Amino acid sequence: MQFEVKTTKREDLVDISARVAEMVRASGAVDGAVVVSSPHTTAGITINENADPDVARDILMGLERLLPRQGGWRHVEGNSDAHLKTAVVGSSVTIPVERGNPALGTWQAVYLAEFDGPRTRRVMVTVLAATAR
Ligand code: ZN
Repeated sequence: MQFEVKTTKREDLVDISARVAEMVRASGAVDGAVVVSSPHTTAGITINENADPDVARDILMGLERLLPRQGGWRHVEGNSDAHLKTAVVGSSVTIPVERGNPALGTWQAVYLAEFDGPRTRRVMVTVLAATAR
């Protein structure tokens, strides 16, 4: 399964938790795991706090300090920082599924991490249903 996200800035963390949960419920899986994956090289997937929006802003700011857009990178496309930031956050997350829902912590959200937007991004959702006796 997959869905699209239209990002609106060059860099953004877009909360996709509700859409992931919808797909898990639609799959009918009760227990197992869900893999949420980005098929892009300049947008990743990560899990972090959704209670204080400053956390998402600080993550983007911290990544920019570590990997500045103007970093003397060699990649001719000019978006090396976006590739590097995506490498740091990773391209996928795996979340346990319990009682038909993604088992996220109270303060956790699943984010599409956009580093070279605005663009339309695809998010792949693979539900692995466990069977038990
Ligand atoms: Zn590039």
